[in-house]
Amino acid sequence: MAKVTGFLEYTRELPQDRSPIERINDWNEFHTHFSEGKMKNQAARCMDCGIPFCHSGILLEGMASGCPINNLIPEWNDLIYRGLWREAIDRLHKTNNFPEFTGRVCPAPCEGSCTLGINEPPVTIKLNECEIIDKAFEEGWVVPQLPENRTGKKVAVIGSGPAGLSCAAQLNKAGHWVSVYEREDRIGGLLMYGIPNMKLDKSIVQRRVDIMEREGIKFFTNKDIGKDINPNSLLKEYDAVVLCIGSTKPRDLKIEGRSLKGINYAMDFLTQNTKSILDSTVFDGISAYNKDVIVIGGGDTGTDCVATSIRQNCKNVVQFEIMKKPPLKRVDSNPWPQWPKTQKTDYGQEEATFVFGNDPREYCISTKKFVGDANGHIKEVHTIQVEWKLCDNGKYIPVEVPGTEKIWPAQLVLICMGFLGPEDIIFEQLNIERDSRSNAKALYGNYKTNLDGVFAAGDSRRGQSLVVWAINEGRGAAREVDKYLMEYSNLP
Ligand SMILES: Cc1cc2nc3c(=O)[nH]c(=O)nc-3n(C[C@H](O)[C@H](O)[C@H](O)COP(=O)(O)OP(=O)(O)OC[C@H]3O[C@@H](n4cnc5c(N)ncnc54)[C@H](O)[C@@H]3O)c2cc1C
Ligand code: SF4
Repeated sequence: MAKVTGFLEYTRELPQDRSPIERINDWNEFHTHFSEGKMKNQAARCMDCGIPFCHSGILLEGMASGCPINNLIPEWNDLIYRGLWREAIDRLHKTNNFPEFTGRVCPAPCEGSCTLGINEPPVTIKLNECEIIDKAFEEGWVVPQLPENRTGKKVAVIGSGPAGLSCAAQLNKAGHWVSVYEREDRIGGLLMYGIPNMKLDKSIVQRRVDIMEREGIKFFTNKDIGKDINPNSLLKEYDAVVLCIGSTKPRDLKIEGRSLKGINYAMDFLTQNTKSILDSTVFDGISAYNKDVIVIGGGDTGTDCVATSIRQNCKNVVQFEIMKKPPLKRVDSNPWPQWPKTQKTDYGQEEATFVFGNDPREYCISTKKFVGDANGHIKEVHTIQVEWKLCDNGKYIPVEVPGTEKIWPAQLVLICMGFLGPEDIIFEQLNIERDSRSNAKALYGNYKTNLDGVFAAGDSRRGQSLVVWAINEGRGAAREVDKYLMEYSNLP
């Protein structure tokens, strides 16, 4: 245990993010760092509980409680406290291939189940993780680690998001030759083109990809499997194939006026923006400049659209959420160590409040129709308020409240209503079965599809989820592929 009385002596503290007034003028990360002394105090708050729920990674009420990759949190908290940062990164890398990603973007279910969180603010687990890996890179401790032996087996991974990357990293460790195929022009999946630069700097993604390349993994970009390359030819060329193609079919809002110009999917908006930053080109994509922007949908994607619109100098931005505003504190039916379903204000909402003077989120609101101008361009969004009513079957349904109709000016609408599963083409060409939600049909923990030698992991198997779950699945699939190829596996 770090310090027996640490949780009594120190309060939870996080480094101040760059102030909104400064950060909305650039695309740089908003995180900042703590000094080693401050980090020691934060790590000292860990009580090294008899049962550390923070690293359990179990599902309670369908939500993750504790870290889904079972990071050995109390162990590295103790190592930070004792100043043993090198040992801390070794311990962290045992369970997580990419702490620099999760340390920045993970919603930290670990903190929701931290025992200290029962009556005090939880330990700053996500911050501690980020500081360990950032220091490790700074000190030059993260270097390519080549496998001692090669097995001669070849594996193709399709898709280079966190699932594909963690799967490739683990298979390479086991000595297999791994090739990763990606249809975009850069590697990283939603880490590259999805999560914006201010939340996760793209040089951090590229830095890890470069290390993996030096470890022997081959990356092929601009290769759309199913279009540029028939997946059947990969089956012939490789001993196993892993599908990590994400959940990329956006959920649409099929209401009157949907075909008007200026109504776009969030991913098109975010991807074009990041591409133009990385290519240093003059931006000619979907722009929020000087527009009233309506973001339809909450969640991470919605927040990223709000923050991106502000950086593009929108006139105003409003974010619609059909659900009720969550409570500020846990309610009795959502006890510790469950994931706390409470109101969180993320960076995008903080920035909107700073620029426009109010939180951009509107709750219990349903979009009824889009209305255009004479040129077929979106001009207004018509909405109505809803109330959530309990039905006889025990489910809540939204019921419209008469007289609450409202018209919102809008020249840009961004739809962020989630995703409906992976695209069809590879499934059709390989005759791979899908589950009732149209994801790859493969059991969690064994990841095998109905086709011998073909595995599936990440959002394309699980449905849209989180980076940390994608890493969990990529690692798990690698272990199963290793077993399939070698009849045993030493991979964790
Ligand atoms: C805007 C946005 C913000 C998010 N923010 C967060 C966050 O802050 N924290 C968090 O934990 N999670 C976040 N998520 C969710 C998280 O990014 C995903 O759960 C995670 O990236 C899934 O990983 P994956 O590897 O399964 O798929 P992806 O990251 O989607 O990667 C799949 C890759 O496969 C490629 N591909 C698809 N089809 C083919 C093909 N036929 N041939 C070749 N390549 C192909 C795609 O181009 C893509 O690069 C966010 C999601 C979005 C959309
Ligand atoms: S990966 Fe996420 S859940 Fe796990 S320790 Fe890090 S922040 Fe917590």
